[in-house]
Amino acid sequence: MTSPHSASPPRVYLLHGRDKRVGFGHPWAYSNEIRMDAAAKAIPPGALAQLVRVDGKFVATGTFNPKTLIAFRAFARDADTPIDRAFIAGRLRAALALRERLYAKPFYRLIHAEADGLPGLIVDRLGGTCVLQAGTAGIETLTPEILAALDEVLGPRAVVLANESPLRALEGLETYARLVSGELSGPVEVEESGLVFFADPLGGQKTGWFFDQRDNRAFVAHLARDAGSVLDLYSYVGGFAVAAAQGARRVLAVDSSAAALDLAKRAAAKNGVAGRCEFRKQDAFDALEALAAGPERFDIVVADPPPFARSKKDVPAALKGYRKLARLAAGLVAPGGFLFIASCSHNVTAEAFALEVAGGVSRAGREGRVLRATGAGPDHPVHPLLPETAYLKSLTLQLD
Ligand code: SAH
Repeated sequence: MTSPHSASPPRVYLLHGRDKRVGFGHPWAYSNEIRMDAAAKAIPPGALAQLVRVDGKFVATGTFNPKTLIAFRAFARDADTPIDRAFIAGRLRAALALRERLYAKPFYRLIHAEADGLPGLIVDRLGGTCVLQAGTAGIETLTPEILAALDEVLGPRAVVLANESPLRALEGLETYARLVSGELSGPVEVEESGLVFFADPLGGQKTGWFFDQRDNRAFVAHLARDAGSVLDLYSYVGGFAVAAAQGARRVLAVDSSAAALDLAKRAAAKNGVAGRCEFRKQDAFDALEALAAGPERFDIVVADPPPFARSKKDVPAALKGYRKLARLAAGLVAPGGFLFIASCSHNVTAEAFALEVAGGVSRAGREGRVLRATGAGPDHPVHPLLPETAYLKSLTLQLD
């Protein structure tokens, strides 16, 4: 069968001398490294293309978008490898084998884009439900092959396209969330560290569940053994709160989304800790200021906000935001207690984040020590040449 992708893809030419980085294994070629002549510009955004040197020597096959800064994303380094359903199924099998080695149960990020050899694609596996995010026009174009390959490798009960990232606009793509196969009647169960949570792949945020914080939630739950009280800011569907409530006597969870809090309440009840948990629909900064005026202090404060910087120009304001968050959160930590604070802003580096957290803690008049600086779990691997895609940064401090 001939798919639009199996015919020999058009060639795009790297400018003279610009082949070193890609040749070294970097998966991207930028638009200013490619000869953007009429032929290149005529290639439809997201089509497969062969990247070649000016002398015609093959470099890689991948997806091409003449309209984006990251114009070419490499999928294969062998000229004879077609990027089709069989190729994608192979990548899915390899990624699945890794996850099955890491986790006993089918709840994880199955595909983490470039690091799993499928640039631009995210797949989260929530048991029988797979939730996909297409971040590029290339992945959008390949979606039929991806869905067929996923069916072949996993046979999921339901598949959702959660294509709601505003970053899709850069690729000329619309945003939408849609069930594309199977049935889904509301939220699905997610198992993590022996607990059951509820995630909504269609109506929730991102893919419905944040697998990236799994290890950090386990660490916070460990710290919360026999703790008096825990404050979970930006609690979403209760990941940190319900885990911490296994040990802590009281957990206060704050989030601005009523829908997320409803699922958090369900998780608390399901795991037998509803009596220890209070859920409050409130802006996190408003909650921090209100709590600061009262007497209650917490053994652990968790602050896992949404990205404060969605683009480079937001970075200065985001840094101020992290400093303020750290300052107000630190002020609520009881002496000897812990602050866990995270940033998932791609554009904020680990160093810059750590500096703002340190500044905020100091402004709160607190001293302490950093116990752990971590990121996402191992189901979010990082391409060795794209260290900047390790977007999650988190710090755990003990404060005197
Ligand atoms: N800690 C969660 C993930 C947090 S995602 C986990 O482990 O699963 C970020 C959350 O912040 C979302 O639930 C979103 O509803 C919430 N949020 C966004 N803006 C907020 C605000 N201003 N105040 C409180 N919560 C907010």
